[in-house]
Amino acid sequence: MAKYRITLIRGDGTGPEIIEATMLVLNATGLDIEWEECLAGEGAIEKYGTPIPDETIESIKKNKVALKGPITTPIGTGFRSVNVAMRQELKLFANLRPVKSFIGVPSKYENVDLVIVRENTEDLYAGVEHYVDEDKTAAESIRIITKKASERIVRFAFNYARENNRKKVTAVHKANIMKFTDGLFLDVAKKVAEEFLDIEFEDKIVDNMAMQLVKNPENFDVIVTTNLFGDILSDLCAGLVGGLGLAPGANIGENTAIFEAVHGSAPKYKGLYKVNPTAVILASAMMLGYLGEKDWERRIVNAVSATIAEGNNVTYDLGGNATTLEMGKRIAEKLSEG
Ligand code: NAD
Repeated sequence: MAKYRITLIRGDGTGPEIIEATMLVLNATGLDIEWEECLAGEGAIEKYGTPIPDETIESIKKNKVALKGPITTPIGTGFRSVNVAMRQELKLFANLRPVKSFIGVPSKYENVDLVIVRENTEDLYAGVEHYVDEDKTAAESIRIITKKASERIVRFAFNYARENNRKKVTAVHKANIMKFTDGLFLDVAKKVAEEFLDIEFEDKIVDNMAMQLVKNPENFDVIVTTNLFGDILSDLCAGLVGGLGLAPGANIGENTAIFEAVHGSAPKYKGLYKVNPTAVILASAMMLGYLGEKDWERRIVNAVSATIAEGNNVTYDLGGNATTLEMGKRIAEKLSEG
């Protein structure tokens, strides 16, 4: 039996191309992985009549780990978002997005190395909203923040910091205005911080945080925040280091996790083998770290860094003209070199 059994979703648009490049890198590790291929998204609709077949959810529940290419969200078909549905069905409460500068990527900043931990299940994204009157002249949305989910996400952030040798956790909120919802989140964060005295703790109001991130992103390490603020700040941070082609992400629950790129399926480039495979390659490195293969995680990140710094085998978005597979192959070679 293989050491690891992992669900693999190749995804839509350019997804299968970047997964193909990622496989070159994972094969170069020599790790004993058995892939259980499942469908989700457009490809699944043709075969199963739904973008999220039960088989796929069951496979992830069984294997507890999945690597996923981006999925095109069908518009105007009545199907719900695959990503939101998977997070709910599998109770993946933490969205983890590392943000790191790479030498050789055009960017205003050089020393960014931070991680955003975003609460994935509540806040304004709980979808409790409606029109107030028949004429639809006013609408309201209920912001739900619970002690349970706040404790869970802040504790996750501190444990992540401890396990990954990070020094500081910053809790981001707007408790000065939203005294009940964000007040609760902040109170819980302060209490949980007392359990982790080896990790520095601070809190910041979200508007100030947005400015601080643009002025001095190198001052931050692990950032933990509620759903909407996390969504906005993580895209801001992806912009700090050169864009979407380099941004990996993970959705993590009690004992299940899905690793993927932050970007979407870039359908206009489908079949051209043109897009950057780095985000999914870095997501696969996070996956290996999650499985306990910390050394392989570090080595893949280093191989990506070296390939980007070398600059000869990078895709169009990094100023090169390599194909998706040429870049993946070069990263795999760098990995084998050491
Ligand atoms: P997108 O991220 O797919 O693409 C936006 C643009 O960013 C592309 O046109 C391209 O210029 C650039 N880009 C994205 N990925 C790149 C890469 N790897 N290398 C180089 N350039 C890259 O966003 P979109 O066009 O808004 O969405 C397309 C589809 O993807 C939609 O159906 C959307 O719902 C879906 N989506 C899926 C996920 C997911 O599966 N996790 C996430 C976001 C969007």
